[in-house]
Amino acid sequence: MDVIEYNQSFGDKESVDFIANVLDSKFHTCLWLDGEGSPCNQVLEAKDFNAHLRSTHGLTAPSGSYPCCWYGCSSLRGAQKRPGLERHVQEIHLEYRWPCGRCDQVFTRKANLKSHLAGCPYPGNGGNN
Ligand SMILES: [Zn+2]
Ligand SMILES: [Zn+2]
Ligand SMILES: [Zn+2]
Repeated sequence: MDVIEYNQSFGDKESVDFIANVLDSKFHTCLWLDGEGSPCNQVLEAKDFNAHLRSTHGLTAPSGSYPCCWYGCSSLRGAQKRPGLERHVQEIHLEYRWPCGRCDQVFTRKANLKSHLAGCPYPGNGGNN
């Protein structure tokens, strides 16, 4: 797994924004299976996947439920509401990881990193305290 190195003098918000930027601009190959069971194979920036899933793979209804059709996916059982499925794709297939810059903990969700930062036992360098 890649560990993102980032400027230790960043404050919490800057750190989170920086990680988001790095994750969003990574390229991934879409392995969503079409009706015939062949992977899509388009290469996209991570931030474009939601729009791509909607326009190319038919996840059109905002409140619809869809199964994950990613090649080899075994971690999602049954259909999911679209927001949950999009989060699943980010976490599992696009491998979003949110490292704390102060300790060695890594989170799968931005919200979890944010709440961790509020209580991380290691002080940030941003405030120089
Ligand atoms: Zn695709
Ligand atoms: Zn999946
Ligand atoms: Zn921490």
